[in-house]
Amino acid sequence: MIMRFLNYKQSLTMEVMLQMALRVSIVIIVVSALTYWHIYKTLVHSTIDGLKHYIHERGQRESVIFRLAESNHQIFRASFLAHWQQDFFYNDRFFWQVFEKRPDHTIHLQKKAYDGFFNSSGLISKDITAYVGANAPADDHDFRKKLLLAYTLVDHFGVAWTQQFANLYVSMPENVNIVYWPGVRWADNASSKLNVVSEEWVYITTPKNNPELKSVWTGLYYDPTALEWMVSLETPVDITPTNTLNIGHDILLNALFDRVFNDHLSGTYNFIFREDGRLIAHPAKIKEMNRTHGMLMISQLKDAQLSHYFQTLRATIQKKQADYFIVEAEDEFLATTKIEGPGWWFVTVYPKSLLSSPSLKAAKFILIISLLALIIELIMLYMVMKKKVIEPLETFIDASSAIEAQRYDKITGNVLPLPDQLDNEIGKLAKLFKSMSSSLQQFRGDMQHLTHTLEDQVKIRTRELQKAKDKAEKEATIDSLTQIPNRHSFYNRAKALLQQADHAGSTVCFLMLDIDFFKIINDSYGHPQGDQVLVACARTIEKTIRDKDLLGRLGGEEFAVVLPDTSLEEAQVIAERIRARIADLSFHTAQHTQRFHTTISIGISSSSETIYAYELLYKHADLALYEAKQSGRNRVVSYSGNWTPAQEDISAP
Ligand code: GH3
Ligand code: MG
Ligand code: MG
Repeated sequence: MIMRFLNYKQSLTMEVMLQMALRVSIVIIVVSALTYWHIYKTLVHSTIDGLKHYIHERGQRESVIFRLAESNHQIFRASFLAHWQQDFFYNDRFFWQVFEKRPDHTIHLQKKAYDGFFNSSGLISKDITAYVGANAPADDHDFRKKLLLAYTLVDHFGVAWTQQFANLYVSMPENVNIVYWPGVRWADNASSKLNVVSEEWVYITTPKNNPELKSVWTGLYYDPTALEWMVSLETPVDITPTNTLNIGHDILLNALFDRVFNDHLSGTYNFIFREDGRLIAHPAKIKEMNRTHGMLMISQLKDAQLSHYFQTLRATIQKKQADYFIVEAEDEFLATTKIEGPGWWFVTVYPKSLLSSPSLKAAKFILIISLLALIIELIMLYMVMKKKVIEPLETFIDASSAIEAQRYDKITGNVLPLPDQLDNEIGKLAKLFKSMSSSLQQFRGDMQHLTHTLEDQVKIRTRELQKAKDKAEKEATIDSLTQIPNRHSFYNRAKALLQQADHAGSTVCFLMLDIDFFKIINDSYGHPQGDQVLVACARTIEKTIRDKDLLGRLGGEEFAVVLPDTSLEEAQVIAERIRARIADLSFHTAQHTQRFHTTISIGISSSSETIYAYELLYKHADLALYEAKQSGRNRVVSYSGNWTPAQEDISAP
């Protein structure tokens, strides 16, 4: 299994599975990426919706205290102006029961006023202090009336309103401040040099600084008396254009800041800024805010990110004119809402990573689960393929090798069990393999039989051909009438004998024989009788010479004999014997009516006096034969070398 896996490059299954794994992996990665994108987009939409809802609510909630302050001031103002019209209200005796002039010419509330006491008009609250500067027009009736009415209303509303606010006070441009502030004896021991008009919470209300006489908010500041961060609302009241006063609330901000810093959505943080760039609250800038007593501009901080937020938000505020909105920064959403009253903007910084990490988690989950499923599927697929494809294929490979080696019996005899019982393509292939093997086996048997038959036939034919060849050869070399070598064959054999004799150095003799007046025999008794004579002469010569001697028919009625290892004398004896035996032969005519005889002339040449050249022996024997004919026929003449016949009488071989 491991080896096969290592050989995966050669394995079709592994190749297919690897390709499948690769493609499915790509699909899984794409699906995971799409999942991430889809979840992220969905989260963005739902988060923006949620954030809008949240920031709107938050804006409303944080604005409550500021709206309440403004509403209180309107109540106070209306109440003051209503009472002012009622002249019966003022009573000098009552005034001096409440106020007292100190030796430094400043006017304060009597000590008992701070401690609280009953009088005919009801409960005089404690916790009220007042300061009237030495130069104030205390002799003026209207001024005293204004002081007493302010004191009475501060006393009246202060008790209720200081549940939500630090205090309630009325300041006047005549250097007056009347304060209801539980637990704080404000300016009770102040020197006559105190000039409240120079305080921010007074001068911002003056007609010069606030010509429309609207409610105005001070900046944020840290109050050393209350030891708290606060902001003040001042509302000017113009009794007449020249006779004015201001209503004031100090709003403690520690609770608000606590909420800004600690009440936030998980993973986010909040901060507050003012549209002019002042930072009101920021969880990471508390130290800087303390150092600058709350007068901290964002531009002073050299915090690029915060500056960028501020620029973006200010641009959006100016463009959108909406009380709340969501701005998408690079890595965060900035949910922003206006806080009614001081004109602050509350911002929740919501990092996008809060959205991407759940999306990423979901995508990762899908990726891991899908990859696990892929691996399990691959293992199962491999097991199925192994059983259904690889193992049958290996049997087929073995079967093919068996066919290559012509071991068809291995397949037909089920030594290699091919799965022909299967009902699928492999089963069909197995059946085909089996039938192919048995066909091949049958074919091989037939071929072997055919080969044997062919071999037998070839042997028979070869034998026949050999016989025919032998016959043809014989026909080519043997004279058909006399059954002795013909001229051509005689020439070849004679040459060989001469060569042997030359090697051995032995003497060879050559006889040239010619039947006398043969023409007359043919003419007198007929051609068949001539043939009979030719055959009889050949038999006679053959019987007379030795086995080693060579006889041939040179043509017509001419014969030649080579006598190897024979001297001229011995040759003369043999030739004489031939001549005599032929002369003794007796023939009869066709009709057996008459008998007749024939004779033969013989010329002899010998190698002892020549070299072993056929042509020369032939020529000399022929010359000797010529001599025999000339000298009367029926005789033997040996070549003597003394005479040379006329050139035209020599017959070429
Ligand atoms: P000489 O004594 O001078 O040899 O006279 P000759 O008649 O024998 O010589 P010639 O050469 O004139 O005649 C040879 C004859 O032999 C001529 C030819 O018809 C005959 N002859 C040649 N071959 C055959 C053969 O195969 N059969 C028969 N019957 N006759 C043959
Ligand atoms: Mg002749
Ligand atoms: Mg003749």
